[in-house]
Amino acid sequence: DVHPLTTLAIEVEAGPDAPVIPLTSGLADDMFEHDGQITKRDVRAVTLAALAPRPGELLWDVGLGSGSVAIEWLLRHGALRAIGIEARQDRGDRAMRNALALGAPDLKVVIGRAPAVLADIEPPDAVFIGGGISEPGVFEAVWSKLRSGGRLVANVISLEGEGRLSDLFGKHGGELIRVAVSRIEPVGRMHGWRQAMPVTQWRVTK
Ligand code: SAH
Repeated sequence: DVHPLTTLAIEVEAGPDAPVIPLTSGLADDMFEHDGQITKRDVRAVTLAALAPRPGELLWDVGLGSGSVAIEWLLRHGALRAIGIEARQDRGDRAMRNALALGAPDLKVVIGRAPAVLADIEPPDAVFIGGGISEPGVFEAVWSKLRSGGRLVANVISLEGEGRLSDLFGKHGGELIRVAVSRIEPVGRMHGWRQAMPVTQWRVTK
């Protein structure tokens, strides 16, 4: 097992141009290999805060994508565990490459579609749903497996996803927030705000 601090030490020794991995959540997006389907750094930092990892806990990252959320979970502490569930083999492979490159080799990847594939996986202490919340049965399967007192955090950008979260909020309570991040980008020789798609996040404790 390579603890992130070990990785840091190795990289510092590797020379001044080696990437140094900070101890906080919200790593730069370009530290991950991705195809555009990635929880962007500012939203990712907020997401990790909501997931609130504690030593010894197991995370399910449903809709693993590039793996950025599960990897940042694992980097918080050497005793954390994470299982990523991803429908696409190529994305699962990419997430594992990212995990190895960033010092989180303990990531476990399950290739398959939620909810079917969730039945046989060890019950989690926290779940992040970054893809699939609108699909029938995904929330129900996650909720029934989540340990009592566990946290569930779901992010959506679509109207349909937001409709689903609105229903679930009505039924189970919790917190709904919207994160709308703008970044400065060049406009000719000047600069202007580029608004990213707003992300709606639901957080609930079982
Ligand atoms: N949080 C990820 C990005 C998630 S993008 C990151 O930071 O990189 C959403 C992902 O969910 C996509 O990779 C998609 O293939 C996956 N997905 C969507 N529905 C799914 C389902 N029902 N089961 C498993 N994976 C699903």
